[in-house]
Amino acid sequence: MRATVHAWTEDEGAAQARQTFAGTFIGEPDGVWSAPGRVNLIGEHTDYNGGLCLPIALPHRTYVALRRTDDGAARLVSEREPGVWSAELDAVAPGAVQGWGAYPVGVAWALEQAGHRVGGFDAAVASCVPYGSGLSSSAALECAFAVAFADAPGWTGPDAGTDSGRVELVDASIRAENEIAGANTGGMDQAASLRAREGHALLLDCRDGSVRHIPFDLTEAGLELLVIDTKAEHSLVDGQYAQRRATCEAAAETLEVPTLREISPDRLDGALAALPDEESRKRVRHVVTEIERVQQFVALLDAGRVHEVGHLMDASHASLAEDYEVSCAELDVAVTAARSAGALGARMTGGGFGGSAIALIEAGTGEAVSATVEQAFADAGFGAPAFLTATAAGPAH
Ligand code: ADP
Ligand code: MG
Repeated sequence: MRATVHAWTEDEGAAQARQTFAGTFIGEPDGVWSAPGRVNLIGEHTDYNGGLCLPIALPHRTYVALRRTDDGAARLVSEREPGVWSAELDAVAPGAVQGWGAYPVGVAWALEQAGHRVGGFDAAVASCVPYGSGLSSSAALECAFAVAFADAPGWTGPDAGTDSGRVELVDASIRAENEIAGANTGGMDQAASLRAREGHALLLDCRDGSVRHIPFDLTEAGLELLVIDTKAEHSLVDGQYAQRRATCEAAAETLEVPTLREISPDRLDGALAALPDEESRKRVRHVVTEIERVQQFVALLDAGRVHEVGHLMDASHASLAEDYEVSCAELDVAVTAARSAGALGARMTGGGFGGSAIALIEAGTGEAVSATVEQAFADAGFGAPAFLTATAAGPAH
């Protein structure tokens, strides 16, 4: 049986979260909030370089049933984790909390740091976003809590009904992940989860945080976006991410620009010549050409020419594999097999070293493409991948 990861309906998700709540806590939650995972169409490893990226929110969401307690403590349960995770909110600080609860209490901490108040809560989490598959279950978790905190009556918080309020929630979620959970994130995931719009891709400019919503309706074009979760987990991922980021920052310093975003494609050759080593030249070449590919991808979408974006996806993958060196055997096999089965284009998505790939395919060919990818994985001796179909869904609410 092929593993297909179906998205819950909002009713199913809310019921799951309420059921999990009832299994641990006495009484009712105040409500249920949810936030989506995301998949990035193009623009990888550009967010922390002040660049452009183009994610969509997935129909796969994380649901949180939450009750305000105002006793200064957080008690959390997740159907995916054993036991009850608890902490005193006063004790939350960088380096002070361990485990999955660090993401939610990190958001509470970051909102408090920004002058808001989160008083204490009981919460139950249920999710159909795959874990650690590069589809951002971590941001879905943070952002579901972020909107829950913002909406809770009696607490002061940013207004989740406005984009500027959502920008504040994005910032709090990023700080939670970077500073409290101790994981690296450049900010694309949280922006996608909180600011995406149904039926649209989110063009995010990470230099100033501005967004543009680009209509993205594949059904109309007779296409589908297939996500292939390779299930590959490689160690050293965090270290590799930190290294790439440090190399980019050092290169920007050498080139005397605030971020690599300032290097336009026509200045690339000059910039490369000014860098001291081949490794930084490769990293910079990826970032600069990838930002340019996002522009080209968006121009094609604006022109109603989504059928023509495949070569940009292929070029993005090649650049990530050869210049940025963040692909892996499983991701390479996934994209090669998908293309051989007729995909218009395919690339790894997310940080790399495992996680997921995406393939743009003709509607109705999902079965055939999935079968080809599955066979290629078996031939290569890899474990079976999982599949899901991505459509541009709505943001946290
Ligand atoms: P990704 O964001 O690509 O799925 P990460 O490693 O960034 O992978 O985040 C996964 C981590 O986020 C998990 O190990 C867990 O700590 C936390 N997490 C995500 N979703 C949930 C959930 N539903 N319940 C509990 N923890 C979760
Ligand atoms: Mg994550």
